Amino acid sequence: MTNRTVLISGASIAGPTLAFWLHRFGFKVTIIERADELRLGGQNIDVRDGAQKIVRLMGLEDKIMEANTGELGVRFVDAHDRIKGVFPKGDSGFGTAELEILRGDLAKILYDATKDNVEYIFGDQITSLNEHEDQVTVIFKNNPQRSFDLVIAADGIRSTTRTLMFGEEPVIKYIGVYCSYLTIPRIESDTKWAYWYNAPGSRVINTRPDNEGTTRASFSFLSPDNGYEKLPLAQQKEILKQKFTDAGWQAPRILAALEESKDVYLDGISQVKAPRWTKGRCAIVGDAAYCPTPMTGMGASLSIIGAYILAGELSRHKDHIDAFAAYEKLLRPYVEDIQNLPPGVPWVAHPKTKLGITIFNTAIAFVSSKMIRNISKLLSGKEKKPKKEKIKLPNYT
Ligand SMILES: Cc1cc2nc3c(=O)[nH]c(=O)nc-3n(C[C@H](O)[C@H](O)[C@H](O)COP(=O)(O)OP(=O)(O)OC[C@H]3O[C@@H](n4cnc5c(N)ncnc54)[C@H](O)[C@@H]3O)c2cc1C
Repeated sequence: MTNRTVLISGASIAGPTLAFWLHRFGFKVTIIERADELRLGGQNIDVRDGAQKIVRLMGLEDKIMEANTGELGVRFVDAHDRIKGVFPKGDSGFGTAELEILRGDLAKILYDATKDNVEYIFGDQITSLNEHEDQVTVIFKNNPQRSFDLVIAADGIRSTTRTLMFGEEPVIKYIGVYCSYLTIPRIESDTKWAYWYNAPGSRVINTRPDNEGTTRASFSFLSPDNGYEKLPLAQQKEILKQKFTDAGWQAPRILAALEESKDVYLDGISQVKAPRWTKGRCAIVGDAAYCPTPMTGMGASLSIIGAYILAGELSRHKDHIDAFAAYEKLLRPYVEDIQNLPPGVPWVAHPKTKLGITIFNTAIAFVSSKMIRNISKLLSGKEKKPKKEKIKLPNYT
């Protein structure tokens, strides 16, 4: 199935990756993005597992490596900045990945790799989809209607295009924790390490280095679903101030930067559970289809892997129905594995009491101790064998 026209909604990670591969396989691709320009915000994300191999095949691995944030690993600290546990980069499946990059940098690299071969339309979105036997007629908010052979939604966890395709069938499942991200001025004592601090009341503060001379901070806290993500920004900032004023450690510094910060973002951490990812001539990919949560460190990687497989299967099959079926069959077990959060997540990492935090930090110290890491490497044989990818990627090239 080549030489066909495909409309993709969303120009972040999944959309441009899908466009890259579809173009390589001979499709004519248009991307529509709601924002007026490429969105360059966001914090450190990882390119892991099969996704690293895919960006290598795309010729982008070196560019991503060059844009690395330089993070050395994760240090767990107490209120007095005493280090309780250390996980150096690449030393465990946890924490800092080999390819650690700011989301905006990755989005830009993918955009640059596709912009000459893909039609990009910014500042618009799909308002209606009418499927016919051989095409889909698309009504846009701002542009004249057009028809495409296929339409793919890659427009994130709260995709409205997905709703046009599947109605309320896919479910956004809140996992019980809110997270807020913001960029703050760097101070001299900030290092190239990421820091993790637990405060009583099931609250966590993180800081991470970037490659832009600033520091990326985040707050997270356990909470019932209160719809905070729908509130105006000023109200969200008030909630963060109330929640973290007495949290200790670097809370005063981060809260002081809250008013001036240009990119404060608060959302309930959620997964997308969709019983199917394709319907007729439409499909979903990336967070729109199977957001695993940032807790898994796999959001961007899963988007890259899903986009590669969807494009590859479309190139391999004459009929899009067969291609869509193969996409679902190949990817679903992997997605289910990633979405299956370990027992106790997110509660274990957000202890409520001072005693709970002491127990948590003791466990972190134990697991991160060099001796324990060496023993577990020895037992699992990881020292000798290269890390195995968790998904066997088909070779479509
Ligand atoms: C601005 C931003 C900042 C982020 N920051 C972080 C972060 O700090 N840490 C983290 O782990 N993850 C972050 N994410 C999410 C992360 O990018 C995704 O989890 C992952 O990379 C999967 O990407 P995706 O392409 O499937 O979806 P997303 O990255 O969510 O991208 C969706 C794209 O679709 C666009 N869009 C939305 N609705 C429509 C519509 N109706 N029509 C057209 N376009 C639409 C959006 O503007 C966006 O460009 C961020 C996402 C964005 C958009």
